[in-house]
Amino acid sequence: MNIMQVYEILLDYYGERPHQPRRKPMVELIMTMLSHRTTARNERVAFQQLWDRFGSWEAIRDAPVEEVTEAISPVNYPGQKAPRIQAVLRIITEQRGEPNIDFLGDLPLDEALDWLTALPGVGIKTASLVMLFCFKKPVLPVDTHVHRISQRLGFVDEDTSAEKAHELLLEELPHDPYVLYNFHVAMLRHGRTLCTWSNPKCIPCPLKFTCQWYAEHGA
Ligand code: SF4
Repeated sequence: MNIMQVYEILLDYYGERPHQPRRKPMVELIMTMLSHRTTARNERVAFQQLWDRFGSWEAIRDAPVEEVTEAISPVNYPGQKAPRIQAVLRIITEQRGEPNIDFLGDLPLDEALDWLTALPGVGIKTASLVMLFCFKKPVLPVDTHVHRISQRLGFVDEDTSAEKAHELLLEELPHDPYVLYNFHVAMLRHGRTLCTWSNPKCIPCPLKFTCQWYAEHGA
């Protein structure tokens, strides 16, 4: 079964979502930086605490790093993330005159991805997510769920890194932002509900008849 057939099955199972930007680009960028190895709930709580405490990007940028670390304490690794977030805010301000990345929507996609991934702590997953979610550009963010499920289904080898999977999966999918967005969201939902990291729930899974992992371990 090819990747588009899997996409159709996932959409039947989880439904489609309209592709509307959910957050401003700066919020998406900083929340994605907070999200690494953290639950969605804790990411939201940390961001809310950060915003409630400082109220502007400038205030977050210029605050003592200990205070930013404390505000984002619900996420994992707050001590690493706080200085990176402040560094990102400083660099954006230096380069753009203000903490605002709306200009990325007007750049060629490769240039925008290069600009984002040059920021400290911003990898291809975060950059792709900002460009797809906020600017509807044809890229696929490969987070831990997309990566794991793609390995289990056999779309990529077990030793393929998440970084490499960004290229390989995109080659197999249409470069249509709506499809890429819904593929990402459906895989995320699948990874959070059935195809969890430990003890995946294969019996009710609509993909079990095409799943390499299930063929080897599931029965
Ligand atoms: S059959 Fe199991 S391992 Fe395969 S995709 Fe479904 S939940 Fe994941």
